[in-house]
Amino acid sequence: MSKILIIEDERSIAELERDYLESHGFTAEIEGRGDIGLQKALGGDYNLIILDLMLPKVDGFEICRQIRQVNNIPIIMISAKKEDIDKIRGLGLGADDYMIKPFSPSELVARVKAHLARYERLTGDKLIRGDLIQIRGVVIDKTSRRITIHDQEVMLTSKEYELLLLLASHPNRVFNKEELFERIWGLDSLGDIATITVHIRRLREKIEHDPSKPQYIETIWGVGYRFKI
Ligand code: CA
Repeated sequence: MSKILIIEDERSIAELERDYLESHGFTAEIEGRGDIGLQKALGGDYNLIILDLMLPKVDGFEICRQIRQVNNIPIIMISAKKEDIDKIRGLGLGADDYMIKPFSPSELVARVKAHLARYERLTGDKLIRGDLIQIRGVVIDKTSRRITIHDQEVMLTSKEYELLLLLASHPNRVFNKEELFERIWGLDSLGDIATITVHIRRLREKIEHDPSKPQYIETIWGVGYRFKI
């Protein structure tokens, strides 16, 4: 079931959107504050974001920009002013669609369905849903912390698992070594950043068919690593 995040500070509009989406079989969650909405969008397992432009704390422009640095999840932007739509387009923020208030909720549902279908086509066999990530034969079950590669279970150390989970949770996003180190080992760790290289090598030996020609974890020279879709 597709899960949709509605970032909207006008409660009545947000509830109308949610009710319509839920009556069409979607799960929808409302967040009224921009800063919290951004955190949810970056960290949650949503399939689509409905994003109002004018929001408290952090506005829709900034939220859209930051989400796009991380992933390509469909974003439908909502605004009360037609001029804003031109501005959004002009900024090239990467929103997939725009709607102007007031709009018909059934039109919103139709567009949500269209964007979800398009996104599923684009991402092919990639699937991130709930506690399960499945990408080209790699399956990560977050509940049991179990990894299988083409149905063969692979045993990983705790750090190798966290590294794989972080990369695979954001397919195609490039992480630099500093960021990986910070997010997995923590800022207060006494470790060395070179440990990332060592862990990537061990991880590849366990999950790649040919570690010298990795199909999953790709090195982006001079930048870092990414999990390739
Ligand atoms: Ca608003």
